[in-house]
Amino acid sequence: MKIHVQIFCALFSLAIATKVDYSGHMVIRVVPQTEEQVKFLSTLESSSSIDFWTRSVAANRFTDIHVTPESYNRIARALLENGMNHKIHIANLGELEKEEQQSIALRRALFSNNKAIDVENYHTYEEIMAYLADLASTNPLVSTLVAGTSVEGREIVQATISSDRSANKPIAWFDCNIHAREWITAATCVWIIDTITTGYGTDAEITALVDQYDWKFVPVANPDGYVYSWTNDRMWRKNRAINIGASCVGVDLNRNFPSGFGGEGSSNLACSETHHGVSALSEPESQALQALIAADSARVKSAISMHSYSQLWLSSYSYKTALPVEYPEMLNAMKAGVDAIVATYGTPYEYGSTGTVLYIASGTTTDHYYENEGIVHSYTIELRDQGRYGFQLPASLIVPTATETWNGIKAYMNAI
Ligand SMILES: [Zn+2]
Repeated sequence: MKIHVQIFCALFSLAIATKVDYSGHMVIRVVPQTEEQVKFLSTLESSSSIDFWTRSVAANRFTDIHVTPESYNRIARALLENGMNHKIHIANLGELEKEEQQSIALRRALFSNNKAIDVENYHTYEEIMAYLADLASTNPLVSTLVAGTSVEGREIVQATISSDRSANKPIAWFDCNIHAREWITAATCVWIIDTITTGYGTDAEITALVDQYDWKFVPVANPDGYVYSWTNDRMWRKNRAINIGASCVGVDLNRNFPSGFGGEGSSNLACSETHHGVSALSEPESQALQALIAADSARVKSAISMHSYSQLWLSSYSYKTALPVEYPEMLNAMKAGVDAIVATYGTPYEYGSTGTVLYIASGTTTDHYYENEGIVHSYTIELRDQGRYGFQLPASLIVPTATETWNGIKAYMNAI
């Protein structure tokens, strides 16, 4: 009953908020051919408020840029002046958002189950928290911990699945949805939590993995941003920190960690989507993740940060192109994961260090967990898709995405 009241309240607040209208907004795709063009795109991102959805470090890999009806001509001209043509990749973001909302509503209407929530659908922050609380009170494997509170006072909750809490087993750790608009990441983590908790004792592989490891998840690492992406702005990425002396809100939490803080691939401009904040770990959300991982670092065998989109499994380093000394071992681990993902439905994935495969990004969780907490198996997984829907993956694709990802994680955990 309590859950239903919360769901109603969440939907009600959704209905009364004024949302950003993305009608006529587009996503354009460019493929840089030279080092200079790659460099130009990197500088453009960190020196402006232009919303890069993905960016390439290497020539011949795509970069997707969100443009408004007003900014389109200006950005297209700047690209052309630097020798780059573009293609219109998503013609109308507003239409995709409508489709997404319809897919969520359709699933809600059809859902009649005895579970607290439909783990095959997208859910608000309140619904996910209610689900975790329900699980902790009904399933002896599950406990929850409030790791801290967000800028706006929301709880940052970690769920632990353990068959023996006194055994101090090695830990498989996950942070999800640190970037607010990447809804598939929280949905995938919730689906995996459900799959592990229902599979323990009946599924031999899951039972063995739970007996071997404690599983810890922070399903919504950026609660304020996530709520805001439901109520006000579907494309919101950062947290909701007020930046003193600036009109723009928010810090990119995945640029707020100490490794390479403030360097390339992050911005000191408050209006940039990759704004790193005033200092490393300045944000309460980053502090909460840091406290969780530091408390357990001796036991954390694997730390995975879930992101979307691009279909990549990425290791350190993010903030430089140099490779970690354990890179051969990391490549084996990533290959095991990616092979199992590809074997599930044929979804193509690439893997390698962030700095050599994707782009230079400073102050990330993955580098911090690796470099400062000593966790060799620290990775970022960029889930589906490759830009057809971008961040607005239809609800019908949650199960296939989560299924292949979970297969990848199982194979990877068995390989490390
Ligand atoms: Zn992300």
